[in-house]
Amino acid sequence: MGKLSVIIPSYNEEQMISKTSNVISSLLENEHISFEIIFVNDGSKDNTWKQIQESCNQNKNIKGFNFSRNFGKESAIFAGLSYASGDCCAVIDCDLQHPPKVLIEMYRKWEEGYEVIEGVKASRGKECFLHKMSAKCFYSLISSATNIDMSRASDFKLLDKKAVSILRSMPEKHIFFRALSSWVGFKTTSIEFDVQERDCGDSKWSTISLIKYAITNITSFSTAPMQIVTLMGIVFLIFSITLAAQSLYKNFTGQSLEGFTTVILLLLIIGSIIMLSLGIIGYYIAKIYEETKNRPRFIVSEFENHQEQIYEKGI
Ligand code: UDP
Ligand code: MG
Repeated sequence: MGKLSVIIPSYNEEQMISKTSNVISSLLENEHISFEIIFVNDGSKDNTWKQIQESCNQNKNIKGFNFSRNFGKESAIFAGLSYASGDCCAVIDCDLQHPPKVLIEMYRKWEEGYEVIEGVKASRGKECFLHKMSAKCFYSLISSATNIDMSRASDFKLLDKKAVSILRSMPEKHIFFRALSSWVGFKTTSIEFDVQERDCGDSKWSTISLIKYAITNITSFSTAPMQIVTLMGIVFLIFSITLAAQSLYKNFTGQSLEGFTTVILLLLIIGSIIMLSLGIIGYYIAKIYEETKNRPRFIVSEFENHQEQIYEKGI
């Protein structure tokens, strides 16, 4: 029987820490599964770290890692994977929106020999129409880049230590966990779960942060936007050749050329397409710039119940 590491990224979750740690630890104890729970405090502004320290004092199977600032959920997940000592690692949200019972099902699948067990959303839970639509666009772009259906994917997963060590050794600094864990392959299966309502607190995602998240992940996982730029260029080239032929024909046959408005409109359209394309290419250059700086993905300032005190891993 292998040890399970449960990784819980936490940002401003002071009301949830003790509840979540109690629910998960008692569930795993009842099933006689040996485990550790890894709370990663992602630079919370409230008392999350204090709560984590309290839970760690009560139960030696709970470990705490405190980031020096907010590095984002992906970095928190990655830190958990880096410090985990289990034979398999599960990632679960702190707000109990991912039903902890499913952890047991995932663990049993792992015992059967599966190496990557994906939690798949049976439904997307309560979301507004706009959110649903934009998520659909985002995931169809990502899915086309990864050849994996990402529309119902979530960060709720269980990975064998083989897959975890591959993820740890990946050099990229911008990690998109839910796509990367599918990308590594291995013997994979999925389990459907219903997204629960948040117990308390709010979702940490604002519309702006979701847009940023989408752009960052699309540019780090897919070159489709660059191909779209090329496609736009080709469409405009065909359009301009046709227009040039028409204008030359009219010129030679002595017909008057169309007026000023057309010229201005064309200039504006072409100008904005060029700017847009430059912007898209700029995103990729920024990404290369960020990656070449080779900064650590996270910095840990404090540890709880953890011996080996390394402040950043996977540089
Ligand atoms: N989270 C994090 N860092 C952040 C934002 C969120 O570690 O910068 C954690 C958060 O504490 C929670 C999980 O990521 O455990 C999912 O966040 P949230 O519930 O806000 O997202 P949603 O469920 O709305 O997708
Ligand atoms: Mg949530």
